[in-house]
Amino acid sequence: IEAEPTAVDVVVIGAGQAGLSTGYHLRRTGHRPEAGFVLLDAPSAPGGAWRFRWPTLRMATVHGVHDLPGLPMGPVDEDEPAATAVPAYFAAYEQHFALPVHRPVRVRSVWPEDDDPMGRLRVATDRGDFSTRALINATGTWTRPFWPRVPGQAVFRGRQLHTVDYQGPDEFAGRKVIVVGGGASGVQLLAEIATVAETTWVTRRPPVFHEGPFTHEHGRAAVARVDEAVRAGRPPESVVSVTGLLLTPEVRRMRAEGLLDRLPMFDELTADGAVWHDGRFEAADAILYATGFRAALDHLRPLRLREPGGGIVVEDTRVPAEPRVQLVGYGPSASTVGATRAGRFAVREVNRLLGRVPAGMT
Ligand code: FAD
Repeated sequence: IEAEPTAVDVVVIGAGQAGLSTGYHLRRTGHRPEAGFVLLDAPSAPGGAWRFRWPTLRMATVHGVHDLPGLPMGPVDEDEPAATAVPAYFAAYEQHFALPVHRPVRVRSVWPEDDDPMGRLRVATDRGDFSTRALINATGTWTRPFWPRVPGQAVFRGRQLHTVDYQGPDEFAGRKVIVVGGGASGVQLLAEIATVAETTWVTRRPPVFHEGPFTHEHGRAAVARVDEAVRAGRPPESVVSVTGLLLTPEVRRMRAEGLLDRLPMFDELTADGAVWHDGRFEAADAILYATGFRAALDHLRPLRLREPGGGIVVEDTRVPAEPRVQLVGYGPSASTVGATRAGRFAVREVNRLLGRVPAGMT
């Protein structure tokens, strides 16, 4: 016998930066935990995607984790792995604001309960169903790594792994490693692996290095470009692909050492290496795909939000085609600062939808 779904006003899916910011603003505007709203998060402990970052990513080498609203992270130990420091902050945050996070709960599917466009949405999970008036999706990208498809991948005898599998450079000591990907992660992983292995860097397009200081204007311009794409329903590019790679002292050193002499994407893998159409061959023991992520939105498929090009039309956090749904941490808000702001915006929209306009709301 199927149990009745739990009825709530708001379901938030995901409890990373975007979900926690959303939870804070729901609390602040008077939503009651448990009865009024829930946050559903798949992992078994707090931290969002940060729990799963590679152990050699330290607080000194992250680009900067923006504070969540209402409780700053405080001083950090630069040597501490991001995979423990940020989850500890998130755990304290959830407790401080008594956020009703349910975990481990994986949302499998979301669909309208009936034909009424203002009716309830059913949220089916691996731990029972919810019936909600509004949905705020904050599921990030980490669970949807993007692997390029290349002929011969099944034939290659070495190891093929993605950023999500990377656990530090030690296992590559003395090996030949091809690192694929022109983003910030690609360069960071290349830097680490090059200290112990022979590396080749492969990127689809020639990388663009950003000369000079990175100003707020650059950041805003990059976010505006992603925003424009998303409003038009195109799949969002990563913000780095728009800003270019920052010429940090480490990147300058790598350039001087020739580590960043990149090759275009190979055309095929053989049992023991990569081949290019022009006949070039590079032997390899491992191929590391630092090829990015896609938005983790498969559970929303029954809502049919996707455009033919694969993106979803999103204006700020609103989905014009489905007013009951907000997307936070998607496209232009896929950064810790963007996700934090998006939580506030999404809650304002949801309160409007629910006819709640609490006094003093932003
Ligand atoms: P996440 O942190 O991924 O949280 C989403 C949560 O939803 C996860 O717990 C996930 O398991 C859960 N979830 C997913 N699907 C489901 C489901 N179906 N049901 C239930 N739960 C689900 N940004 C910065 O601003 N500064 C940085 O230094 C920085 N460094 C980065 C380093 C790396 C290697 C990467 C890949 C990204 C980095 N980013 C950085 C971007 C960063 O990921 C985002 O800024 C931000 O952390 C994403 O937060 P989020 O809440 O949207 O997603």
